[in-house]
Amino acid sequence: TPTLRLDRLLANLGYGSRREVQQLVWAGLVTLDGEVIEDSDQRIAVTRDLSERMKVQGKPLDPPPGLILMLHKPLGVTCSHKEAGLLVYGLLPERWRRRDPALSTVGRLDKESSGLLLMTDDGNLLHRIISPRANISKRYHVTLDRMLKGDEAEIFASGTLMLEGEDKPLLPAQLDVLSPTSAHVTVTEGRYHQVRRMFAALGNHVTALHRNRIGALELPADLEPGQFRLMSEADLGMIL
Ligand code: URA
Repeated sequence: TPTLRLDRLLANLGYGSRREVQQLVWAGLVTLDGEVIEDSDQRIAVTRDLSERMKVQGKPLDPPPGLILMLHKPLGVTCSHKEAGLLVYGLLPERWRRRDPALSTVGRLDKESSGLLLMTDDGNLLHRIISPRANISKRYHVTLDRMLKGDEAEIFASGTLMLEGEDKPLLPAQLDVLSPTSAHVTVTEGRYHQVRRMFAALGNHVTALHRNRIGALELPADLEPGQFRLMSEADLGMIL
């Protein structure tokens, strides 16, 4: 278990500068297992259950470093730190945006796509999930402008479909038709605008795109657009 000085831990979680969090500790506002911590340089074992044991100003500590969360990305928000407009980071509590290490998205969804999006502050975990070798499937519900012709499933499954401007064919993908103009598409890659471009390559046009599963992890029905929740080890086990 990694350990951190209390003032470093709190500063890294965005509670303030080292000086500011020292003031919180000296004021008796930080407790562990119900006892006030007196020394801001006390070393703390950073375990996953720390939020259940430590309180700051009477409130459970924010999740310690090494978290992964699932978010229901709404339409119209961007998976970027830099761009103007609404960002997925703006859906998190204000203090969480000052964390070090920072949270970042695990892959991306387009601004005009919705659904299951993971975020983590753990770079190793991020790479394990997005690495092509991990081969993790992502399932999208697509709504189409035109009727399916009937040959799409075979073409997607063939492993020969070439996207405009690329020179390597896509890996096989699965199409499950739901209606003449809607389907589930399951892919294991994550190329730029991949699903939209797959249908564009066949002369169709995606009008709505919603990711509802990553690996075996479904977007929970009670997680509303814009909401997020921490993932458990069991949730993570559904992906890795
Ligand atoms: N494919 C797309 O075209 N867009 C996404 O957001 C995800 C997959």
